[in-house]
Amino acid sequence: MLGVVRSKDGVLFAAIAPAGFRILSAIDQVALALSVELVITSGTDGEHSGPSDPHHRGEAFDVRSQGFSPELKQQILDGVMRRLGFERFYGFLEAKDTSNEHFHFQVKKGTTYP
Ligand SMILES: [Zn+2]
Repeated sequence: MLGVVRSKDGVLFAAIAPAGFRILSAIDQVALALSVELVITSGTDGEHSGPSDPHHRGEAFDVRSQGFSPELKQQILDGVMRRLGFERFYGFLEAKDTSNEHFHFQVKKGTTYP
């Protein structure tokens, strides 16, 4: 079924901060709006960039980008970021054009989200 959000097996949601709920909400809205299935590939699990990484605080989530056309990838990125706002959030296509390519969305560095 299209227009849904799933999480990859093994993805952990040990913590979801208020900003994390915003991110997950935006991802779900975009899945519905674009009729695509979006798969969360990382929550609080994984190595990422160390103990201060927003993933561990439930303030960052990764979404699979593989299999979407470049145009659709842009629409997904734009759709999520338009809903979140660039003032307090950041998102990009990480490891672009590699086998590890994925969307990464997080609360903006240096921002304390309520
Ligand atoms: Zn990430």
